[in-house]
Amino acid sequence: MSLEALNNLSYGMYVITTKQNQKNIGCFINTAIQITSKNPIIAVSLNKENYTNQILKETRKCAISILTEKASQNLISKFGFFSSKEINKFEDINFQYVDEMPVVLEDVCTYIIGEVIRVIDVETHDIFLIRVLRAENVLDDVPMTYRYYHEKLKGKAPKKAPTYQEEKIGDKGNKYQCSICGYIYDDDKEKIKFADLPDDWTCPMCGVGKDKFVKL
Ligand code: FE
Repeated sequence: MSLEALNNLSYGMYVITTKQNQKNIGCFINTAIQITSKNPIIAVSLNKENYTNQILKETRKCAISILTEKASQNLISKFGFFSSKEINKFEDINFQYVDEMPVVLEDVCTYIIGEVIRVIDVETHDIFLIRVLRAENVLDDVPMTYRYYHEKLKGKAPKKAPTYQEEKIGDKGNKYQCSICGYIYDDDKEKIKFADLPDDWTCPMCGVGKDKFVKL
């Protein structure tokens, strides 16, 4: 079986958010599909280890924001590579409360508010069936596809994504990998050797420091 063959399935770029007590929680998702047309229901896949998964099972209500092609790496990284358990992802981004849900509005073309009507256990992930209560357009802009993210922005899939595949590293040579997002710094392709990068250098993908890199 070629796992890479599955890369031809199409996905989008979304952020799912919820609120528990006074805390805003959310994460990046690439899997959100409309299942029914009348009284629409959408399905979202979330890794069981995801904090947002655990909280959504309790709150049963969420917002989904559809990112445009202009969405920043900072926004994608923050929601994709970090946990709401550890950081406040909403600190410096544009969001607004709608129906009590914290809706991300930064580089977003559409948002949806919904309630969880069923959770289906699928091995490592859960599928959340979500009844759409509200869907509004924000910006008349092009939604970003997963392919665009990978090809144009050279983005990586978080380890917990349903579509995650281990990267083929080939000859390890002098390569250093970000332990947060998987970005690889290859001494042989860069002008400056990893060891010579300044102390304040940060991962171009997720923004963490040099200390989060490991030599392959
Ligand atoms: Fe990184």
